[in-house]
Amino acid sequence: EVHVEFDGSTRVITVSNQKGGVGKTTTTVNLAAGLASVGARVLVIDLDPQGNASTALGVPHSADVPSVYDVLIEEEPLADVIQVSPESPNLLCAPSTIHLAGAEIELVSRVAREHRLRTSLETYLAENHVDFVFIDCPPSLGLLTINAFTAADEVLIPIQCEYYALEGLSQLLGSVSMIQKHLNTKLHLSTILLTMYDGRTRLAQQVADEVRTHFPEQVLTTVIPRSVRISEAPSFGQTVIAYDGQSTGAVAYREAAVEIVARGQQQSTEGAR
Ligand code: ADP
Ligand code: MG
Repeated sequence: EVHVEFDGSTRVITVSNQKGGVGKTTTTVNLAAGLASVGARVLVIDLDPQGNASTALGVPHSADVPSVYDVLIEEEPLADVIQVSPESPNLLCAPSTIHLAGAEIELVSRVAREHRLRTSLETYLAENHVDFVFIDCPPSLGLLTINAFTAADEVLIPIQCEYYALEGLSQLLGSVSMIQKHLNTKLHLSTILLTMYDGRTRLAQQVADEVRTHFPEQVLTTVIPRSVRISEAPSFGQTVIAYDGQSTGAVAYREAAVEIVARGQQQSTEGAR
């Protein structure tokens, strides 16, 4: 039984990739559950109107449920929308609802439209301690994602080990440096996680090698395998950690979680340049 010590600080990590279907949500919820399973207190903020992270954490998110929409648009306190996942008392979720789909447009005319998540998160963290905040982003680079970038210190990019993996990545890194310059000097790419890895194919190995060559500092040693158990878990409203804790996918996500703790918050972004 692994138990990890935490130093009392809060790491705010946004999980981002401009592509859909690359494993952002799967990575968010399973790393969060993996960290909770080793004793961390973790908050997941679901910023994707699809609400897949809320679903996977077993948290209700029908239209009438108070959600991140109310935080961003109505300025409700984050504490008032946070729910505890049935999986663990250490695993919290600020759910998304369908209303969030409209927030992208509604935010445009609001005051401090790029900072609203950061402001509410700061207020929350002044009175509540969590060791990690994970923000699950939609696949676009709109105002919701900008709010995530502005609220976070770290960017974690999940990369699917397939041919087009690196395509579009320079656009994402360009956005990160633009945010860093204009809105949030602390933001940096801290972590890359290779996912849906099929070690039997040469292509997956080649892509993994290429990503490690470009980003030697950021890529985790742990790789997430392609696993049916991982893809089944959300339909039971569970992370793979709870659904099948002995499966290869659960073991890998727990290892990745421990590695993220051990590496700490890396300040260097040299590998990204
Ligand atoms: P995103 O949030 O980037 O759109 P998801 O996390 O929803 O991507 O993943 C896309 C699909 O791939 C989902 O159906 C998910 O269950 C599946 N998936 C993600 N990671 C794995 C994995 N390691 N093995 C098998 N299926 C996976
Ligand atoms: Mg998603």
